[in-house]
Amino acid sequence: MFRFRLKIRPKDPLIKILPEVRGRYLQNISLARHTWFGVGGNAEIMYIPEDTEDLAHFLRNKPRNVPLCIIGGGSNLLVRDGGIPGVVIKLDSPHFKKVSVGEGFITCGAGFRNTDLKKYLLRNKLGGLEFLCSIPGVIGGSVKTNAGCFGREVGDVMLRAEIINGEGKIQTVTAKDLGLSYRSSLFPEDWIILSITFKTEPATEEEISRKLEEHRQYRRERQPYNQKTAGSTFKNPEGLKAWELIKKSGCAEMSVGGAKVSEKHCNFLINTGNATAKDIETLGEMIIQKVRQETFITLEWEIKRLGIEK
Ligand SMILES: Cc1cc2nc3c(=O)[nH]c(=O)nc-3n(C[C@H](O)[C@H](O)[C@H](O)COP(=O)(O)OP(=O)(O)OC[C@H]3O[C@@H](n4cnc5c(N)ncnc54)[C@H](O)[C@@H]3O)c2cc1C
Repeated sequence: MFRFRLKIRPKDPLIKILPEVRGRYLQNISLARHTWFGVGGNAEIMYIPEDTEDLAHFLRNKPRNVPLCIIGGGSNLLVRDGGIPGVVIKLDSPHFKKVSVGEGFITCGAGFRNTDLKKYLLRNKLGGLEFLCSIPGVIGGSVKTNAGCFGREVGDVMLRAEIINGEGKIQTVTAKDLGLSYRSSLFPEDWIILSITFKTEPATEEEISRKLEEHRQYRRERQPYNQKTAGSTFKNPEGLKAWELIKKSGCAEMSVGGAKVSEKHCNFLINTGNATAKDIETLGEMIIQKVRQETFITLEWEIKRLGIEK
């Protein structure tokens, strides 16, 4: 996510030059196991901070030249086959999965899974966030991508966020500070979302259940289910649908190696089992090229591509 250009001396194994932390360092961890596509190389180091203080200590004391990147649930990521050099941070400890409910709001840690919101909404009769429960991933990733569906997105329901910057300084910011817009955000690369406070609306259990069920059914009918994918591959160009452009341009049956366009929704790419990240990225680039040739429109990746080629 944020990179510094100085080179690490090849003699120093990365683990040896990182600060001592209370959290965990995992070496050479396969990122295929941390992403929905199930492809990609290793993280040189994965760091799982114990809590905010541990993360702040790490950020303040790590060598400036070590590249850092943060991942959430990996449901919007394509990690390249050469993996990610440096440190990949994952807010996966219980501290970052805490939830607290107040009058008209709910605060969720960045590592909390969107789908786990359901039980809090039902138990506390909180409406307005049902859409988020159907989006894979965790809260931090969903803020970064301004995730949305069924007519709502994170920016519509967010009151404030707690973030930490690259120097380990914590601050509270608003949706405006994060520059949220359609499936994107515009905030400094070294900001890490720690928690989010969403506004809620009073609702009955029946109303919430009905919406959750409608959303579940809609997805089951129209989107690939139980498959290795990262959701919509390309953003919808203004006033248009990416899937319509893909279909119209004759790309709906395209495949490369183990990667193919979903038969159910042609803006979803699928790893059929043995795809490499290269297969998936090449397929995506071929679609962009074909759609451009046919329609003069350039599709923009919605999926975040990270890491280096093999
Ligand atoms: C089947 C399927 C259906 C989907 N449907 C939708 C949908 O309807 N609407 C939609 O918007 N998306 C959808 N997606 C895409 C994806 O689920 C969302 O973008 C989701 O919000 C990504 O969250 P994540 O935790 O998996 O983030 P990741 O994929 O892990 O990361 C996404 C980005 O967020 C950054 N990031 C992660 N955590 C943090 C943090 N704490 N602080 C700062 N940056 C961070 C990462 O660096 C990366 O740039 C779908 C995906 C799948 C697989």
